[in-house]
Amino acid sequence: MTAVADQAEPATQPVLDSVREFLGGEKKLFIDGKWASAQSGRTFTTEDPATGAVLAHVAHGAAADVDQAVRAARRAFDEGPWPHMKPNQRERLLWRIGDMLNERAEEFGQLEALDNGKSVGIATAVDVAWAADVFRYYAGWATKIEGSTINVSMPFAPGGQFHAYTLREPVGVCGLIVPWNFPLLMAAWKLAPALAAGNTVILKPAEQTPLSALLLAEVFEEAGMPPGVVNIVPGFGDAGAALSGHDGVDKVAFTGSTEVGKKIVDAAKGNLKKVSLELGGKSPNIVFADADFETAVPGSLNAWLFNHGQACTAGTRMYVEDAIFDEFTGAVAEAASQVKIGPGMDPATQLGPLVSQEQFDKVTGYLREGMADGARALTGGNRWGETGYFVEPTVLVDVRPEFSVVRDEIFGPVVTAMPFDAERGVAAAANDSMYGLAAGIWTRDISKAHRTAKQIKAGSVWVNQYNGFDTAMPFGGYKQSGWGRELGASGLDLYTTTKSVNIAL
Ligand code: NAP
Ligand code: MG
Repeated sequence: MTAVADQAEPATQPVLDSVREFLGGEKKLFIDGKWASAQSGRTFTTEDPATGAVLAHVAHGAAADVDQAVRAARRAFDEGPWPHMKPNQRERLLWRIGDMLNERAEEFGQLEALDNGKSVGIATAVDVAWAADVFRYYAGWATKIEGSTINVSMPFAPGGQFHAYTLREPVGVCGLIVPWNFPLLMAAWKLAPALAAGNTVILKPAEQTPLSALLLAEVFEEAGMPPGVVNIVPGFGDAGAALSGHDGVDKVAFTGSTEVGKKIVDAAKGNLKKVSLELGGKSPNIVFADADFETAVPGSLNAWLFNHGQACTAGTRMYVEDAIFDEFTGAVAEAASQVKIGPGMDPATQLGPLVSQEQFDKVTGYLREGMADGARALTGGNRWGETGYFVEPTVLVDVRPEFSVVRDEIFGPVVTAMPFDAERGVAAAANDSMYGLAAGIWTRDISKAHRTAKQIKAGSVWVNQYNGFDTAMPFGGYKQSGWGRELGASGLDLYTTTKSVNIAL
């Protein structure tokens, strides 16, 4: 087993005064344009996963607070200015949010690094910068949401003349429930298209990472968002359940585990609210023998290690053509052993801690189970350090398709590697999963790349790269990885509904 980089005293970035100030005092709920404690008076703490230290006390929203937020959003939708505002007014406001995110990128980046444990550099350059981009992208769409005119034949009214058209309207009050792995970014993916289309929203951030959503509420307030349009209610699963079951909510958009996704579907049945789901994954990353090692090794490493493996798209099943299996997996393991582990606030950190004790226990539990099943670690396999929720980057070989480490979403820095025979193909093995979120393909043969991309049952396929996202490209899952497509023009479809109007002239 190769040793991982030594644990050294980290040189962490100093916390900005503005971030310190934000963290002081109770962080409240943001409902109807006002800051309020939870009706129960309760608070919960959110901690820094690198140290376990308490960062802030947060108002603990529950069903009663969700109800109040839904009523505020309903009033803002039915009576407020937002849905009746001119599209270019909504455009300017959303564009301003994007600008303000960029202006305060350092602050948002630090808060995200502290609350989630991810590297401050990545939080700023990826999470915050992309969130700003998403607001600008959908700001542009606000003025481009169109219906169509339809040249109807009306066979049962042959003598008449008609004027028929469609209107694309906002769905109404939307409940947005997001996880802790990309707290600000997942909120932006939902908020921006929902607001561009003229909906009003209630956002429920994850209990582990409520802080960036509350700073975002300050940004909305400062930008002049009318009261009730954006409501933010931090809390636990029961708050999410109250939101997805509320009859005053017209649509719920969820990102998180497949298990909770199914609960959302059940809860939504009452009023048959619209549902979109971005769920888990166990994505295949396929490396053919003719792949360019220079790009395929670091690319395949990043595929499973990005965000400490806490990414729904993580390429955690590596299928490597047998001719290069030992050489390739050895190179990936060697690169993994060189990764710099540390707290997110150390700018040199490449791999931070997992988000919580719960996730740490889950990931290390899978490692124990995998080893007991007969897996062998080319590198890693253990906890890293004495404090914080750090796990060594781990490459597992000698695995079989039925092992839990191959089947389940581990959500940590763990990859399984399996050889494949080019004659028999790789698609069947790659598709042998209840998930279908993403896939990677590495080859210099362009025809093979296209053929394989077509065979893979996944919402996103990346060739000679991994996590090749763009705000304009639809993203979502096949099979149990979800319903609907976020981002791009498809993202707007989730937050609009079509009305057909037919006029007898
Ligand atoms: P989760 O339980 O699915 O949580 C996602 C969001 O749903 C959180 O805001 C959560 O609130 C809320 N929630 C929990 N129970 C709910 C319910 N019954 N009704 C409505 N909302 C509810 O995910 P997690 O607990 O954070 O992580 C568990 C596993 O999910 C991970 O190990 C990972 O495998 C997977 N996961 C996947 C993604 C992804 O992007 N695909 C993201 C995160 C996690 P609380 O925070 O209070 O629980
Ligand atoms: Mg949970």
